[in-house]
Amino acid sequence: MPRAIVALALSIIGTPAIVSAQGRGGQARPREIVQIRGDLYYVSGSANTVFLVTPDGIVLADPVSTEQAAWLKPELDRRFNKPVRYIIYSHHDFDHAEGAAVFGPAALVVAHENVAMNLDGKLHRLAGGNIDTNHNGKLDRDEAGGGYLTNFDRLDRNHDGAITPDELNQEIRKPDITYTGRLNLTLGGRTVELIYPGRNHSDDMTVVYFPAEKAVLAVDFIFPGTTPPVWGEYDWTPLREWIASIKTVEALDFDTLIAGHGARLGTRADVAANREFLEDLSAAVSKGIADGKSLDEIKRTVTLQKYSIWPNLAASLPNVIEQAYKNLRDYP
Ligand SMILES: [Zn+2]
Repeated sequence: MPRAIVALALSIIGTPAIVSAQGRGGQARPREIVQIRGDLYYVSGSANTVFLVTPDGIVLADPVSTEQAAWLKPELDRRFNKPVRYIIYSHHDFDHAEGAAVFGPAALVVAHENVAMNLDGKLHRLAGGNIDTNHNGKLDRDEAGGGYLTNFDRLDRNHDGAITPDELNQEIRKPDITYTGRLNLTLGGRTVELIYPGRNHSDDMTVVYFPAEKAVLAVDFIFPGTTPPVWGEYDWTPLREWIASIKTVEALDFDTLIAGHGARLGTRADVAANREFLEDLSAAVSKGIADGKSLDEIKRTVTLQKYSIWPNLAASLPNVIEQAYKNLRDYP
């Protein structure tokens, strides 16, 4: 349904206030700017935007969506009266990288070099375990799940029943600056460090480290207080590479983690727990495979009770074990 019709339908039933507070992901929580420490802030909408205010302008990570950026731009102007000078992408997925155009061409987009490749007009790895199963170079409606399905009518711009790469990436500005391993951005006497952690949820990830604020943004591969995300055999990336990339974050001097989604900030202990979970999961499932057990037998015997404090563990464990089993089988 086109957005205008949704808004009209909601205002007819008398809830226009909810329409203005709703993000693209459908959450009804009003957006607000929250201080993390010093001049570092975040906005938690359908995904998180983080920004550092310096005397010479703002460094922003993940504009998230045209809608979120259009909400944020006048808030930044009003509260800080500084232009956005750099926009960092955590990775190229549309639910984080859309919306940079709102801040104008003077704001330079910075990303890992693989982001440029992933925006080259071909269909590359999709998030959430989505696959172009018929290999036609587009995501058809019956192939789409998760965020691609809930956003299908918006992303399928010409409404022909398939999302082409150009349609998928239409609201994503391409990077102006790319880097390979590490890049330090300096603005107004402040430093932001961009670190490639290796492959995990995607192959074009940037960890954004704010050393003076002892804070780090790590998107879609660390979830504080819950299991690390499990989509499509752990995004078809060996679990040992996931573990290595979390260790890259742990090697930084930080005490606050901002994740890609959710307003809950994390601690060093949350990051370590995500890594230990993947280590324990890999060890338990690998042992089951080595002992000749079937997937069903492994599902019955591996409980990972140490992590039962995580509210979603029991419900997600069968799928977690299945995706880990396939991952360890396919990427031994
Ligand atoms: Zn993602």
